[in-house]
Order: sequence, then C-alpha cells, then structure tokens
Amino acid sequence: MTGADSNSRIAAETCANCGTSLTGEYCPQCGQSRAELKRPVIGLFTEALDGVFTWDGRLLSTFRQLFSRPGRVAREFVDGRRRSYTPPIRLYLIVSLVFFAAMAISGIRIVAVNITADDAG
Ligand SMILES: [Zn+2]
Repeated sequence: MTGADSNSRIAAETCANCGTSLTGEYCPQCGQSRAELKRPVIGLFTEALDGVFTWDGRLLSTFRQLFSRPGRVAREFVDGRRRSYTPPIRLYLIVSLVFFAAMAISGIRIVAVNITADDAG
C-alpha cells in the first residue's frame, strides 16, 4: 500500500456512485474509489508529493531493468505488466530531481547566458 492510499480518508460504507455496499477500497460494481475527495488542500498537496516520491523497491528494479535490458520496461508497460515497475511520471520526476540537484551541486552549467550592456542601453 502506498502512502497516498493510507492518507486517504475513507468515505461511507456504500458507493456514492451506485449505492453498492463497499467491502474494499473500490466499488465491486462500478469500480469507483471509496476515498473521500473532500479534504484540506495541504492534504492533497502532501498526498501528491507522497505519491510521486514514495520510495519503494520498484525503483531499483526499474533502474536495473532499464540499464540491463533497455526496452524491456517499455515493452512490459505496453503489454500491461506495470505493477513491478515505477510509474513513468514518478521515474521522470525522480531522475529530473537527481539531475538538477547534481548540476547544482557540481556547478556545471549546460546553458550559460552572458548579458552585457552596450552603449545604446
Ligand atoms: Zn459503485
């Protein structure tokens, strides 16, 4: 279970969409989540961050597969076998965060802009 799931408030015992009695996290009749959507904005923000940056074993597994068998992760995703890999958006955000942190720490600049004032202004 992810942190986002554990942070979700649980709504009533019947589905708000179809009225079916709920026994799990999702309605067995229509598939709607039973998570309550009315919650504080800060809760939504932290939940989104938690969903993106939650560390789990899938991240290492995904990286291992990406470097050892390029293309396999994409093929598995297309074929629907996604559960054992980190979702692409999360992977992209994590890689971007690490990249920009490494750039900031190392002082390397990819783009350098020099602005000089001439006599005209
Ligand atoms: Zn339902």
